[in-house]
Amino acid sequence: MKNKKYYYLFCILIFTIFTVSVINSFDKEDTIQTSSFLESLDSKKIEWGIKRNDNHKQPDLGSLNKKIIDEQEGIAIGNSESKKVYLTFDEGYEAGYTEKILEVLKQNEVKATFFITGHYINSKPELVKKMIEEGHIIGNHTVNHKSMPSLNEEQIKKEVMDLHTAVYEKFGYEMKYIRPPKGEYSQKSVAYCNTLRI
Ligand SMILES: [Zn+2]
Repeated sequence: MKNKKYYYLFCILIFTIFTVSVINSFDKEDTIQTSSFLESLDSKKIEWGIKRNDNHKQPDLGSLNKKIIDEQEGIAIGNSESKKVYLTFDEGYEAGYTEKILEVLKQNEVKATFFITGHYINSKPELVKKMIEEGHIIGNHTVNHKSMPSLNEEQIKKEVMDLHTAVYEKFGYEMKYIRPPKGEYSQKSVAYCNTLRI
C-alpha cells in the first residue's frame, strides 16, 4: 500500500474575484499528528466578506485571514501586478442565468469556476455536465451550504466528501477546491478540509 496514490482535496476559499486556494498534501503517517494538530487550532468563526471600495485597490484581507491562508498554502488575492481576474460563481440553486453565463464565457473563450451544492447537482446535473465539458472548474460548496464552524469534523467530512463523491461518480470529475458556505470558516475548519481525501 506504500505506493497507493492519494487524491488530495484542495481547499479553496474564493471571495468574488479573489481566490483562496488551500493546497496541501499529507502522508499517511501524518494522520496521528494531524488530529492533535487540529485540536490545537482555533475554532472561532470568521466571517469574511469584501469591503467594497472605489479606489481600484484590492480589499484588505486582514492579518488573521492572511495567517490562516498562508498556513494552509492558500491563495486569497491575486497578484495586483498581473492584470488577471478570477471569475467564480456560487451555484446554490439555479436562478436561470447559468446557461447564458456559459454561453458568454464560451463566446469569449474564458474559463471560470463554479462552486456547486448538493441541491445544484441534483436539480441541474445537465448544467454541471456542460460546465465540465466546456473546461470550467467545478468547486465544492458542500452538500447543504452550512456554516462550517458550526459543524463537527464528522459533519464537515460528510458535507464535503458526499458532494465530492457524487460529482466523481456522476461525471468522473474530481473537485479540488472548496469554498466555505456563507464565507464562514475557522482556522480549524480550513485545516480540517485540507486533510480530506478519498
Ligand atoms: Zn454560497
